[in-house]
Amino acid sequence: MDNPGFFDCSSFFEDENVRAGITKRHFPYISPDDRPELARLLGLPTERVVIPRQTHTNRVEIVRIPGRLPSVDGIVTNRERLVLSIQVADCVPVFIHDSTNRIIGLIHAGWRGVVDGIIRNSVRSMEELGGDPADWRIVLGPSIQKCCFQIGREIVDRFEAQFVRRKEGEIFVDLQQLIIRQFVVAGVRETGIISTGQCTKCLAQDYHSYRRDGKQAGRMVAVLGLL
Ligand SMILES: [Zn+2]
Repeated sequence: MDNPGFFDCSSFFEDENVRAGITKRHFPYISPDDRPELARLLGLPTERVVIPRQTHTNRVEIVRIPGRLPSVDGIVTNRERLVLSIQVADCVPVFIHDSTNRIIGLIHAGWRGVVDGIIRNSVRSMEELGGDPADWRIVLGPSIQKCCFQIGREIVDRFEAQFVRRKEGEIFVDLQQLIIRQFVVAGVRETGIISTGQCTKCLAQDYHSYRRDGKQAGRMVAVLGLL
């Protein structure tokens, strides 16, 4: 039965050991306590959560123990029973699983991190643990989509033209396609990458959105772990 308090992304993975989910806006937001609670609802251990302090960097870290991490926006592990967590409110939560080598990665991919190379860095960290991009299943969770991700002209040069659309004098970027492109360039099969297709700004009933709600916006928490 589907719990209305979170979106269960586990079924997007071909491996039944993967548990992945993201909270919806009516899930209690009591950071960091909602992370163990979401882990529990997904059947993952609640006392083994990794909590990065995200600062829109391109930094990805290989983690081996639960607990808090300073200034890192992507985490990767091959340790048993470790639960990765991040928070998002328009940025793209990227869930990565290498089923052959039992490696997982969870990335907070905002536009700054993406143009600064966080996708390339996450691929590198997964490979450092013995992962092979050709084996990966990647899920892009709910985020701001091309319908709503408007940017100012002062940063348009930071994006390749193929991901930029101009509409009535305004500029929009397809950040999810840019992320998919970067993974494909790194050797991930395009058929191995799935987007849930949800736009956080459009789906006001379900998700928080910084672009829609501004400074008072809440956050969604995403977790990823292996049984
Ligand atoms: Zn939208």
